[in-house]
Amino acid sequence: MISTAAYAAVSSRSQLAPYTIERRDPGPNDVLVNILYCGVCHSDIHQVRNEWGGSIYPMVPGHEIVGTVVKRGDDVIKWKIGDIVGIGYFIDSCHECDACAAGEEQYCEAGMNTTFNGFERDGKTPTYGGYSTRITVNEDYVLRIPPELPLERVAPLMCAGITTYSPLRHFGIKVGDNIAVVGLGGLGHMGVKIAKAMGAKVTVISHSPGKRADALALGAADFIATSEKDAFELNAKRFDFILDTVSAKHDYNAYLNLLRRDGTMVLVGIPDPVLLSAGSLVLQRLKLAGSLIGGIRETQEMLDFCAEQRVASDVEVIPIQKINEAYERILKSDVHYRFVIDMASLKQP
Ligand code: NAP
Ligand code: ZN
Repeated sequence: MISTAAYAAVSSRSQLAPYTIERRDPGPNDVLVNILYCGVCHSDIHQVRNEWGGSIYPMVPGHEIVGTVVKRGDDVIKWKIGDIVGIGYFIDSCHECDACAAGEEQYCEAGMNTTFNGFERDGKTPTYGGYSTRITVNEDYVLRIPPELPLERVAPLMCAGITTYSPLRHFGIKVGDNIAVVGLGGLGHMGVKIAKAMGAKVTVISHSPGKRADALALGAADFIATSEKDAFELNAKRFDFILDTVSAKHDYNAYLNLLRRDGTMVLVGIPDPVLLSAGSLVLQRLKLAGSLIGGIRETQEMLDFCAEQRVASDVEVIPIQKINEAYERILKSDVHYRFVIDMASLKQP
C-alpha cells in the first residue's frame, strides 16, 4: 500500500482537514497517477454535506483530476510513465452490461464505481477522490489529456466539461440553435463555451445580475437576469433548448415556460425536489430530461474537441488549505468559474 496525503471530511458537519489514505500498489491493469490539479465541483459539496443521503465517511472528495502516470502494472498497454492523464467521476463499472458495452459506463446497470464516496467493484473498499496527491486506477478509466491546453484549466473538463458536452451532443445541438444555459457556475460557464463552439446562439439565465459582462465575455449572445421585472414573461417561448445547471432548489415550471413548442429542457443540476406541474409540459408538448456526466469514449471526444476549439475552463487556482473557504464562496455563487486545487500545496506524509 502507498501512504498518500489527502483532505477529508469525517462527518456531514465537519470541515475538510488533512488526512492520510492508503492507495493500492498498481495491479496488472492499473496505473498510479501523481495528481497535479483537481477541480472543485458542487457535487463534492452536496456529498460532503450529505445532501443526497448515504454519504460515506471519512470522505475524500474530488473527481476532476489531472496528473502524471508514475507507475504501471505489467499488463498495461495504453499508458506509459510520464503520460499526462485525466480521471473523472467514475473509476470502474461492470464492463459487461448494455450500458458499458455502449460506452455509457456512467449508466452501468450494476452501478458505476464513483471516484469518491463509493466502493471499488469488491463492494467494500471505499473509494477516495482527487483531493489527494495520488490515485491508483484501472487503465481503461483514464483519459488522454491533449497537450494544447494548460493543465489547471483542463481539470474541470473531467466533470463540468463532459456533463455539459454530453447532453448538447445527445440532443443534437447544432449551428444556429437558439439555446439557454441556466446558472453561470462551473458547469454553466463550460456549457456556454462548448455550446458556442458547437455554433449555437447561447443566452445565459442567471440569478446574479452582476454576471452579465462575464457571460458575454464567455461567449453568450444575451443575458437574462431572473431578478429583473417580468424577466420570465418577457422571454416566454423564446428557446428551443435549455440546459439547467442550477445547484439549488428553483421552480422548473417557470423555466419551462421559456421554451417554444416541442422544446427540451435538460437538467444536469441536482438540487432538492421541486413540484412539477403537468401543464408546464403538456401545453407546448415539451420534453424534460436529465443527463449524467458522460462515458469514457465521449469524455475523450470532448477533450479532443476542446483542444481543437481551444476551449478550457476559467479557473481560480487555490492551495488545498483554502478549500473550506472555496466551498463557502461556491455556495454564494461567487466562483469565477471553477476553483482548481494545486496539489503541490499538499505534502506527502
Ligand atoms: P456551481 O459552480 O455552484 O454553479 C451553480 C450555479 O447555479 C451558480 O453559480 C448560480 O448561477 C446558480 N444558482 C445557485 N443557487 C441558485 C438559486 N438559489 N437560484 C437560481 N440559481 C442558482 O455548481 P456546479 O459545480 O456547476 O454544479 C451545478 C449542479 O450540477 C450541482 O447540483 C451539481 O451537483 C450538479 N452536477 C451534476 C452532474 C451530472 O452529471 N448531472 C455533474 C456535475 C455536477 P447564477 O449565479 O448564474 O445564477
Ligand atoms: Zn462534478
